[in-house]
Amino acid sequence: MAKIPDFKTQDEAVEFWEVHDSADYWEDMEEVTFEIALHQNLFHPKLIVLTHRPEYCPRCQHDLDDTVIEYVARNNGHLLVIRDVPALRCRVNGHEYILEKTLDDVERLLDLEKTRKLQPSETIQVPVFSLKMTA
Ligand SMILES: [Zn+2]
Repeated sequence: MAKIPDFKTQDEAVEFWEVHDSADYWEDMEEVTFEIALHQNLFHPKLIVLTHRPEYCPRCQHDLDDTVIEYVARNNGHLLVIRDVPALRCRVNGHEYILEKTLDDVERLLDLEKTRKLQPSETIQVPVFSLKMTA
């Protein structure tokens, strides 16, 4: 089994993994767990964060299309919508990805909103129901 080199920068690692198959290095890998303080996107709960843009869908190897999604998050005790968020969508199976860089921008916007340094471009009304109304 091959040994994974010690990467000095993230770019080094990216370049390496672009031309090497991780299956050849499986036994040299260690399991890690980490917490991510994501403001979960309520409309796209299965959105996967990628550090760099892959050529094909990492899950099924089909083509990826550039798309724009709405990011719906709970922030500062209320719901908010962020429009025009760039994302990648797998052409065949609809797997969705967002780049880490984009997520950083989302986090920055949420911080600005929290400190009221940013005003919304519009405010929409959301209908609220109770399931008891169907009884
Ligand atoms: Zn896919």
